[in-house]
Amino acid sequence: VLPAVPTAAEDETAVLPPVSGGSLLESERVAAWFGSRKVLEDISLRMESGQVTALIGPSGCGKSTFLRILNRMHELVPSASLAGKVLLDGDDIYEPERRITDTRKRIGMVFQKPNPFPAMSISENVTAGLKLTGTRVGGSEKRELIEECLTKAGLWKEVRDRLGQPGGALSGGQQQRLCIARSLAVRPDVLLMDEPCSALDPTSTRRIEETIHELRREVTIVIVTHNMQQAARVSQSCAFFLAEQGTPGVIVEAGPTAQIFSTPEDPRTADYVEGRF
Ligand code: ADP
Ligand code: MG
Repeated sequence: VLPAVPTAAEDETAVLPPVSGGSLLESERVAAWFGSRKVLEDISLRMESGQVTALIGPSGCGKSTFLRILNRMHELVPSASLAGKVLLDGDDIYEPERRITDTRKRIGMVFQKPNPFPAMSISENVTAGLKLTGTRVGGSEKRELIEECLTKAGLWKEVRDRLGQPGGALSGGQQQRLCIARSLAVRPDVLLMDEPCSALDPTSTRRIEETIHELRREVTIVIVTHNMQQAARVSQSCAFFLAEQGTPGVIVEAGPTAQIFSTPEDPRTADYVEGRF
């Protein structure tokens, strides 16, 4: 349900918090099921502020499921259930009294396929999340916010003269950067990205990697990628997921990216990062 669009008078109050610098996100012994089928087991991972954490591993090992658990999207699937805890700066996001919208406001998500609102203007796309979360920002603050978020997403110079054009008129890479700008507008503490470049060309991919590199200073980033070079380029921390022969996905190994890539402890990690399966 969308809250009513604020009137001009209400619109005067800017209630947007400052950039957070990111939060510590931790999973503790997370397990997940679809029906009776267990797809994740014993997933404990620290995702630190100021860092990009990359989730790597073969298709089907539960990376997307884990990401959706981190912002309470998993529970939208009727057959889905889970166990364990997810802590955001120490607070369990699954506490019964915690509102789902509060969690979603603090933990944003960018998907594989860019999903701007195609008929909405570029600037309306940036501020769309503010309406959804009931945040009011006044006229001049709103213009500043649009410029700020588009700049951070690396899109401002390309669209500053056509902010009124529909989001759907942009190229795929631009649409993905618009989605990043939209996520940033609500001042999240964490940004989850599920293979954000896999539908994009190499040039757009590099632009988004540069954006991710800059953004880690203000928001904790967790990115799923099947591109090992990308994981090595953008992340400081890495977790290797694997589901062997019908067993649930587990984390085989997690640690600093340099270590996972150069001196992994588990031979399966070495095989995967060196492209042997
Ligand atoms: P990954 O992102 O690593 O490719 P997923 O998290 O998408 O893996 O999937 C993990 C497992 O859960 C897979 O076996 C997949 O088939 C299953 N799965 C994912 N989504 C659903 C769903 N909505 N209903 C039933 N099974 C699902
Ligand atoms: Mg996936």
